[in-house]
Amino acid sequence: MRIILLGPPGSGKGTQAQRLVQRHGIVQLSTGEMLRTAVAAGTPVGLRAKDIMASGGLVPDDVVVGIISDRIEQDDAKRGFILDGFPRTVPQAQALDELLKHKHMKLDAVIELRVNESALLERVETRAAEMRARGEEVRIDDTPEVLVKRLASYRSQTEPLIHYYSERRKLITVDGMMAIEQVTREIGRILHAIGALETKQSKKAPAVKRGAGKTAPKKAAKKVAKGARKALKRASKVVRKAAKKGSDRPAKKVAKRRVKA
Ligand code: ADP
Repeated sequence: MRIILLGPPGSGKGTQAQRLVQRHGIVQLSTGEMLRTAVAAGTPVGLRAKDIMASGGLVPDDVVVGIISDRIEQDDAKRGFILDGFPRTVPQAQALDELLKHKHMKLDAVIELRVNESALLERVETRAAEMRARGEEVRIDDTPEVLVKRLASYRSQTEPLIHYYSERRKLITVDGMMAIEQVTREIGRILHAIGALETKQSKKAPAVKRGAGKTAPKKAAKKVAKGARKALKRASKVVRKAAKKGSDRPAKKVAKRRVKA
């Protein structure tokens, strides 16, 4: 199963991704997590990303495409993955299409978590309070001021992906305002309906580390940085190639079945 979770900050992508990881034994690839790990470890990628992330902007496409390109080749991603926070721009989506094509991998679905914008600030504030209560470091970008900027980035750069994937018959929209459990159930129902779970559910899910690995951030960040460097070369080629093709390409191949969520 290969899926993308799409939605604004605070829409519940991370929460739902973790639940899918537990249930189906596939990895969650969160570019936000990977970048935060790289920032914490002070890698070259981290140094490039640090200020951009703190201000709520988007890290350059070639950096994130490089990270993802390398990551989806690793063994633990062979059985499938959930992309959380990637792609976030049309060129990233085009680059991903090229990468998947090149690797003979098929994307099952793009699940959009639709939420009312008015609820997002409260959600992000709650997340920050919960992290504080657990003694975890609160994300530097989880402040009302930066959230406004992150939302603006989402609207201008990420929202066009709704059209992009809808044109390619990959988009399934779920009401992200429902309770967490209900959203999970709905996603499960959809994945089942499109056949994304068919062959993979028989095996018991192995313990899978989240993102780049929360338990060993330095080691994971080194791996991410090393992979990103290697993949950067390849990725910029892919981004250039995808950009050349343009975003107005007609949808040729479509998902076999479309589920109305
Ligand atoms: P959110 O909860 O806002 O969706 P994430 O944890 O996914 O946040 O990402 C945090 C920050 O990391 C983003 O605001 C952005 O600066 C950077 N980032 C993450 N993924 C990408 C991406 N695919 N492209 C560009 N920047 C990204």
